[in-house]
Amino acid sequence: MSTVSEIFGSMVFNDITMREKLPKNTYKALKKTIQEGKELDISLANEIAHAMKDWAISLGVTHFTHWFQPMTGITAEKHDSFISPTEDGGVIMEFSGKNLIKGEPDASSFPSGGLRATFEARGYTAWDPTSYAFIKDGILCIPTAFCSYGGEALDKKTPLLRSMEAINREATKVLKILGIETSGVKTTVGPEQEYFLVDKALYDQRKDLIYCGRTLFGAPAPKGQELDDHYFGVIKPRVAAFMKELDEELWKLGVLAKTKHNEVAPAQHELAPIFTTTNIAADQNQLTMEIMKKVADRHGLVCLLHEKPFAGINGSGKHDNWSLSTNEGLNLLEPGKNPHENTTFLLFLSAVIKAVDDYQDLLRVSVASAGNDHRLGASEAPPAIISIFLGDELTRVLEAIESKSAYEDTPAGSMGIGVRFIPGIPMDTTDRNRTSPFAFTGNKFEFRSLGSTLSISGPNTFLNTMVAESLSVFAEKLEGTADVKAAVYDLVRETIRDHKRIIFNGDGYSAAWEEEAARRGLLNMKTTVDALPSLIAEKNIALFEKHHVYSACELHSRYEINMENYCKIVHIEALTMLEIARRQILPAVSSYAQSLAETVIEKRTVCASMPCKMEESLMTRISELTDQLYDEVAALDAAVASAEEKGDITLSGTAYKDEVIPAMNQLRKTADTLETLTADEYWPFPTYGELLFSV
Ligand code: ADP
Ligand code: MG
Repeated sequence: MSTVSEIFGSMVFNDITMREKLPKNTYKALKKTIQEGKELDISLANEIAHAMKDWAISLGVTHFTHWFQPMTGITAEKHDSFISPTEDGGVIMEFSGKNLIKGEPDASSFPSGGLRATFEARGYTAWDPTSYAFIKDGILCIPTAFCSYGGEALDKKTPLLRSMEAINREATKVLKILGIETSGVKTTVGPEQEYFLVDKALYDQRKDLIYCGRTLFGAPAPKGQELDDHYFGVIKPRVAAFMKELDEELWKLGVLAKTKHNEVAPAQHELAPIFTTTNIAADQNQLTMEIMKKVADRHGLVCLLHEKPFAGINGSGKHDNWSLSTNEGLNLLEPGKNPHENTTFLLFLSAVIKAVDDYQDLLRVSVASAGNDHRLGASEAPPAIISIFLGDELTRVLEAIESKSAYEDTPAGSMGIGVRFIPGIPMDTTDRNRTSPFAFTGNKFEFRSLGSTLSISGPNTFLNTMVAESLSVFAEKLEGTADVKAAVYDLVRETIRDHKRIIFNGDGYSAAWEEEAARRGLLNMKTTVDALPSLIAEKNIALFEKHHVYSACELHSRYEINMENYCKIVHIEALTMLEIARRQILPAVSSYAQSLAETVIEKRTVCASMPCKMEESLMTRISELTDQLYDEVAALDAAVASAEEKGDITLSGTAYKDEVIPAMNQLRKTADTLETLTADEYWPFPTYGELLFSV
């Protein structure tokens, strides 16, 4: 048995391996290139490629791939072997610097939202040397960015890297004014990943799970999550075996898998890694989701990453814990013992507050998807309204600064700020702020609106850019002021005055908050279709262009892709419902009604006055509902056809939201009622009870 420290990172061409395998000068030159964010020179790339190939071959690798993250939100790879023919009819294993740094996949079938129709069909992949190469399933994977011929980002990594540069630039500027020298500032992220595990044999009998990743039918089981007995409960042996192997696989890949536990809903679990630099966290979260599915399969399980696999019980999210720190390790959101005197903290905190208020719409749209629409605002996940939770203590600090009154440190013995905020606060506030979409949790913010399937690249790209903008405004105001400290307090005061509407420490699930938020003028975009236009709002295009994160073109393409994706998802779900209703549910309920009818006939043959109350009334009810279901199938069919005919992606999206989804809901309601009336042996697929309680 190997120890964890032996297996950790064993499949990664990480810093330790590079130091060991690369000539000293090459290693140093690579580190320098990465640190300075410069382009890699080809002779250096050749040397690295050579060492990388030898290392990979020694671990049984035969192929390499440029591993990238197209706008589908998942990862893509195309495998090339290292072989190259020799004159004598043999082969040698080759991998050049050019192979390493640049690829040209024929990737024309990925969604580009019109970007490649306008420019060039070809797509290029380019190595992101700040994210280590790794071996997965015997393939050397090189994390890459994916761009068009004209340099337009066709992926999720490129804008994220650009946003990291933007925030680095602006934060460094601000720190310099504050008298803090640093070689750079990076954002850090720790994404907590929720998921469901279901038995594969049961999964295979459900077309909705197979095609859509979520159930489209299913009456509630008698037991759900009401006893709270699953949350943090003892992990069952089959799940524990899965989790153990998952940890090991992730550790091999250098993923800092740390915490695992059962979640609120039955069959729901969570994995949290230790935080790391944002682009690495994004790569690793994509890998984590992929490995979860693979490992589950080996245990006869299926890992569901959908945001809402089951109606009526909690869906799955992904908490994006975000902070920023200097390369030297100073966390800029660390309040310390005296936050009211910590100008650096106060300034960066203010930057986030201003950003979240100014760009609420961007945070909202960054988590918008058809799947996540089932969670946000459904009193299980944060509301669709974006607000910030700061906690009472920090709110008091800011209020004191705003009103220029002295901040009263809580008397000794009770909970002083330092004590409260450091180890105390995450525990103390979990219950109180669970409803907040964007909560300050000690020394970081936790953005809680992300759905479990989502690539974290998008939300973090937006967050980085928004905060970069606040910092840029702050830098301009602070530049050249004689008394920087006084100027910082003025800025903090101004920020609180102008943006305090975004701070809300209360219950985000309550109807009262929805009204209060409306009074405060906060946005409340309930669905993806409502949120998507924010991507192309003038103020947001200006923001992203100013910081060189997205061009207007790139944003328009993302609007198209996201709206189209919404339509396609709902379309597939509607078609799946139609198929299940027509080919499984209608025949099943009809057979059951027939068996009841036959029973009546047989009973009456024995004795003409035999009581048949149950059979007759049940048969009548089932027949009525069956006819209703039949009509609802036709109505859904018509709604889908009408949405498809709109000829405009925005109109289609609206039709899917306003017509197709309500028709789906209606159909489901009738089918679920039929399920409760139909004998078990006639029901054509596993029920909620079986799916949720069989593992
Ligand atoms: P909880 O949210 O349950 O209180 P933790 O405070 O331990 O748990 O952290 C949750 C997640 O936040 C973990 O993934 C952790 O690594 C991450 N995290 C902690 N500090 C930071 C930070 N400075 N930047 C980004 N993520 C962080
Ligand atoms: Mg958390």
